[in-house]
Amino acid sequence: MSGSASPDNDFVLAIHGGAGTILRSKMTPEREAAYHAGLQRALEAGRAVLAEGGAALDAVTAAVMALENEPLFNAGRGAVYTSAGKQEMDAAVMDGRDRAAGAVAGVCGPRNPILAARAVMEKSDHVFLIGESALAFCRAQGLDFAEPDYFFTQQRWDALQETLAMRKSGADDQDESRKHGTVGAVAKDRHGNLAAATSTGGMTAKMPGRVGDSPVIGAGTWADNETCAVSGTGHGEIFIRYAAGHEIASLMRYAGRSLEESARTVVMDMLAPAGGSGGVIAVGRDGSVSLPFNCSGMYRGYVRGDNVLRTAIYDEPFRETR
Ligand code: ASP
Repeated sequence: MSGSASPDNDFVLAIHGGAGTILRSKMTPEREAAYHAGLQRALEAGRAVLAEGGAALDAVTAAVMALENEPLFNAGRGAVYTSAGKQEMDAAVMDGRDRAAGAVAGVCGPRNPILAARAVMEKSDHVFLIGESALAFCRAQGLDFAEPDYFFTQQRWDALQETLAMRKSGADDQDESRKHGTVGAVAKDRHGNLAAATSTGGMTAKMPGRVGDSPVIGAGTWADNETCAVSGTGHGEIFIRYAAGHEIASLMRYAGRSLEESARTVVMDMLAPAGGSGGVIAVGRDGSVSLPFNCSGMYRGYVRGDNVLRTAIYDEPFRETR
């Protein structure tokens, strides 16, 4: 697919808005256009940073902030609800230069949870902060907070009610879009540095306190300059158990596999048989891109120095926007 390497001084940014897309049969042209537009805005936000010679870390932060601001995606505004009707968000960021990392879990308040993760990375001695103490840290850092109303979307609230009703009746939920979603970005900048960022509301009707793979370094988020940057989306418990992001990097590092082979092996041959539906976006140190998924679709896109915004939802050719 998009796997070929790029010239050394080129940049590349890839994003996802979650696997577990709306079933094709339920997609309308208007909704499809809205998803593509949301992805394009996020690509544009990150591209602007990279085109100026900015850092991959800043580009993935900008792209994820744009996705968090879109109510269509399950992160920040538009996050899903726990079984108790609350929103508990997780986010992580990792810098491939030195493996600096920051993460938060179980928070609701910071307007952009990815900035909370970044503050943990840059302003604390720690990698991972959770719950109330994470919120206190964010307040002390002066991060922008939003009221609960800001994060509310009728669509996610209705999805919670439907999921709870199905659970009660013992019905099997076939609609992946009701269950999950996440946003993420990975990039290689013009200086050859890699970074990854992931942000999520988690899975609809999750148990309060449950944390998925997104903020777990090595599972849903990974970046090191010697191999690749990865952001995952899908059934988090399986991504954690298979250390998805780090496994991809290990296949490259120790088995000498390409990015595409490594990412596909993990998504198709490891996660899928274990029940880990979902996908990853990954960029390699050579500028290659891999976006495999093992479910009906994944909101995704990428852009290189040619500035063509490529976006797709299902197993289909990329739409190109200049
Ligand atoms: N991976 C996320 C989680 O388990 C959900 C998703 O990406 O769909 O929290």
